[in-house]
Amino acid sequence: MDNCIFCKIARREIPSNKIYEDDEILAFNDINPAAPVHFLLIPKLHIESLADVQDSHQNLLGKMLLLAQKLAKEQGCEEGFRTIINTGRVGGQEVFHLHFHIIGGRERLPGMIHHG
Ligand code: 5GP
Ligand code: ZN
Repeated sequence: MDNCIFCKIARREIPSNKIYEDDEILAFNDINPAAPVHFLLIPKLHIESLADVQDSHQNLLGKMLLLAQKLAKEQGCEEGFRTIINTGRVGGQEVFHLHFHIIGGRERLPGMIHHG
């Protein structure tokens, strides 16, 4: 996708602080971190969101989840972390290329969903 910011990062047209890369997947630090550890895990393949995944993506998605916990521990989240996948307008997605947020650090993260 020509104008997708995460495709551009995957193609190295935009620099990123990369922490992992293989043929299918890239992980890099979020430009606006919400906690001491905050990186994004993306497929290099342009998939718009979790609402757009297909059966053919099953292996890729499994690989991404396994990498999420491995990289989280490597980045210093041995005591836990939060994994967020914002999906679509209601989910607050801003970049329409599937990405997992992995967020953590030393302190317990604040609650997320506010009732009321
Ligand atoms: P969303 O709301 O779509 O789940 O989150 C998009 C995330 O991408 C945000 O946390 C934002 O800070 C991050 N982001 C947007 N543009 C860039 C960029 O050019 N580089 C990096 N590293 N992160 C970005
Ligand atoms: Zn893309």
